[in-house]
Amino acid sequence: MKYSLISDTYEKIEATSKRLEMTDHLVDLFNKTPNELIDKVIYLTQGKLYPDYKGVELGFAEKLTLKAINIGSGRSSNEIQRIYKETGDLGKTAERILSKKTQLSLLKESLTVEKVYHTFDKIANSTGAGAIETKVRLLVSLFNNATPSEAKYIARMAVGKLRLGIADMTILDALTIAYVGEKDTKKDLERGYDITSDLGYLARTVAFEGIEGVNNIKVTVGRPIRPMLAERLSDPKEILDKLGGEGSVEYKYDGLRIQAHMDTNEVSLFSRRLENITDQFPDIVDSLKNSIKVKAIVEGECVAVNPNTGETLPFQMISQRRGRKYEIKRVVEEIPVMLFLFDLLFFNKNDCTLSPYLKRRKKLKEIVKENERIKISWQHITKKPDEIDKFMDKAISDGCEGLMIKSVDSDSIYKAGARGWAWIKYKRGYKAEMADTVDLVVVGAFYGRGKRAGQYGAFLLAAYDDEEDIFKTVCKCGTGFTDDDLKELLEKLNQYIISHKHPRVDSKLDPDVWLNPSLVLEVMGDEITLSPIHTACTSVIRAESGLAIRFPRFTGNYRTDKSAEDATSTKEILEMYRKQLKKISK
Ligand code: ATP
Repeated sequence: MKYSLISDTYEKIEATSKRLEMTDHLVDLFNKTPNELIDKVIYLTQGKLYPDYKGVELGFAEKLTLKAINIGSGRSSNEIQRIYKETGDLGKTAERILSKKTQLSLLKESLTVEKVYHTFDKIANSTGAGAIETKVRLLVSLFNNATPSEAKYIARMAVGKLRLGIADMTILDALTIAYVGEKDTKKDLERGYDITSDLGYLARTVAFEGIEGVNNIKVTVGRPIRPMLAERLSDPKEILDKLGGEGSVEYKYDGLRIQAHMDTNEVSLFSRRLENITDQFPDIVDSLKNSIKVKAIVEGECVAVNPNTGETLPFQMISQRRGRKYEIKRVVEEIPVMLFLFDLLFFNKNDCTLSPYLKRRKKLKEIVKENERIKISWQHITKKPDEIDKFMDKAISDGCEGLMIKSVDSDSIYKAGARGWAWIKYKRGYKAEMADTVDLVVVGAFYGRGKRAGQYGAFLLAAYDDEEDIFKTVCKCGTGFTDDDLKELLEKLNQYIISHKHPRVDSKLDPDVWLNPSLVLEVMGDEITLSPIHTACTSVIRAESGLAIRFPRFTGNYRTDKSAEDATSTKEILEMYRKQLKKISK
């Protein structure tokens, strides 16, 4: 299969501002892809080689990619640097440079998908002495045979910044149309994806075995399950009403979510974003081995603790254990942690995701032997709203963020990959006016003036509308950023710059720079107000008005553990606004 089929599709996708057209282009590409290559085409389109949980990174430094362009094109590195400075994009740099390369072009053999994939795979796998030279040589071999457009995407792939902004849901839509045809089978594909977290594997299954094969996919130890997520409410009575009068109250620990896969003597840990974080938590791995003796998948929240008092510590502490590659032994000693288990998704040979919550919890208690580091989350079943408020005070004094209140109904299954009302989070903040932070996606940036000239001065931030699968603006935020933050953001956001508003962004404002919705920032504000200029929840409260955050400020917390789709939803913003109103009118 010619790689140009892929690069032509990417060109079309980049040129469109309509989501449906994006899907059509993907369907077209999948229809032209032989079954045995569909997984590779999917991974390449996601800018990867394997599903995230395998932890395989291409990790080509920009400098090395520039060097490969230099060798592959024979153009001077000064010229390449100049174009790179001008475009700020390695892809465009490669494209421009290679479009000037005319000699020998007739001798080129055209690139195939197989060749591109296998070359990148070799690049990812070369380690040890001489690895850098090997990687560069391999990348040069691709540039040598690439058209300018192909070179653009090869360069971006190398540095891990494909910048197409294609959501998983769009790929699922396209797979359904291309391989099954019937729209109502999309939920089967979604389930297949939710329990494997691997779109390539799913695509291969549907391509070779059809929808029947997809329905036969099983939960497997070693393959992470996409996490179930909670809705948010701020009144105990409302929460219990929503849950049918009774709920199971658990502490909402403030740490890092961990999904642990326990095989015979082997433990793998996955983060909320399903990255493999096993090596970062050797203490948890050992403690889990002592605690659970069967094959199982369990979930819990990992928090830092004060070993002297047993108190749980603020999120900032555990976040220092996240993403570490070096000095792990030292931080394991300096920042001890505990894992509070709250769910069981698999044990022995049984998929528990379709069992009701109370049954899962009962089994969890049976198979877990608590030890110094492994505990079961605190829980109490209640029908009384005022009891919930008492639990809240207790949770807060025990260092938690609030409560999780879960449905005890017989149909309260573990809905992988979904945010639903079977779990409701209740955080203390809602009692005051916007005392809770929100996590917002950066969709645009405004150039700074005066002291901030040459940098960004403010950012256009959006909440996620999960019904429409788009991002709607809620504020322009320029406060709370230190000089270092601004410097860092200038660099960090470079990779996300696009020439027009992203098709999944709804905005009335026109920032100086549009960005691919990716980076999530934690923001605090004074209150939520009606606003004619922001698009979240437009016309829900008042015709033509959206909701906006007044006096927003960055808290300093980059939510790198969240993808754009994990940002605070427009529904949550609406809920916070309504609560505020109730309080004012009381
Ligand atoms: P937040 O930023 O508020 O933690 P989130 O988007 O990461 O939200 P939600 O599903 O909205 O996730 O809230 C549930 C989160 O709370 C889980 O992802 C988990 O990390 C954490 N958590 C802490 N204690 C519990 C518990 N007992 N049960 C379920 N989740 C818990």
